[in-house]
Amino acid sequence: MTGLPITGKVDKKTVAKMKSPRCGFQDVLRPSQRPGEINTNPKDVQLKPLSNVFKWPNNQVTWKVMGYTRQLGGASQRRSFINAFKKWSDVANINIREVGGGDADILIDYKRRDHYDGSPFDGRGRTLAHAFFPGSHDISGDTHFDDDEQWTLGTKEGTNLEIVAAHEFGHALGLGHSSNSKALMAPYYQGYDPDYKLLYDDIYRMTSLYGGRAATRPTSLPRVTTRRPRVTTRRPRVTTKRPSTKPSICDLKFDSLFMNGDDRRIYAFRYRKIYRFESDQNGIERSFTKVSRKVLTPRVPINTGAAVVDRYRRLYVFKGKLYIY
Ligand SMILES: [Zn+2]
Ligand SMILES: [Zn+2]
Repeated sequence: MTGLPITGKVDKKTVAKMKSPRCGFQDVLRPSQRPGEINTNPKDVQLKPLSNVFKWPNNQVTWKVMGYTRQLGGASQRRSFINAFKKWSDVANINIREVGGGDADILIDYKRRDHYDGSPFDGRGRTLAHAFFPGSHDISGDTHFDDDEQWTLGTKEGTNLEIVAAHEFGHALGLGHSSNSKALMAPYYQGYDPDYKLLYDDIYRMTSLYGGRAATRPTSLPRVTTRRPRVTTRRPRVTTKRPSTKPSICDLKFDSLFMNGDDRRIYAFRYRKIYRFESDQNGIERSFTKVSRKVLTPRVPINTGAAVVDRYRRLYVFKGKLYIY
């Protein structure tokens, strides 16, 4: 989750990461516990990894602000929350509505230290905020900001309220943390970016829960799809050159494509070869490299027909009628 090299030692980098500002939601959701037994403590919220159990029914959710911080004007905070929700509702098919009076699903509030929901805040720094998964419990969806933080808008000073809100609302709508350190749903605060965006990873995961918005889909797709060869009326040039053997991302056909459970990266099989996709700074896979068979556990046989990773991130590969994992 942190992107730190695994050294097995509590080194300087590890300590620095432990001290850096982050979300209070747990990083690894344990697979053993059933969704029905949801605990109100975000650290104990239980979910089968990669399963889509926690979401708001009928793709409808309401929100309400219970209290504002005195550090910023109320109107600018409310505007930030509207903007933050809009990041998600722009891409996913979910209707998010603010309500003035009465009850709402997502109650937004500022808290300090122990506020009796099982996850005390810790003063300035470290934990910035937390939120609870969707569900039928009173606290489901509720989002708390640590009022001991310095909340700001439009400046590098302090912690940007809107960016943290967009991250927390991701949880309130049903997403866990992302292991992609550039994703909005990565556990650590990445600093102020006036032009912060959802990463493809965030969009993909939220649309897996609620479906996509048809109108916005084309803009959220990776740009490689627009680079298809143009249809022209010109006759193809006659060439004696043999076609390049170097595969291009646009024309290569793979036998199978899957996300590996260990490193959460996309791999492809093609005959005897294995390719691993490389993502750019936006998390979009635009290129790939051939990798050794040793990178995958278990070692896969050659000429594998298909592969799939299950919700427990176990890899199954199929060859003829047999499969291994
Ligand atoms: Zn979080
Ligand atoms: Zn709380």
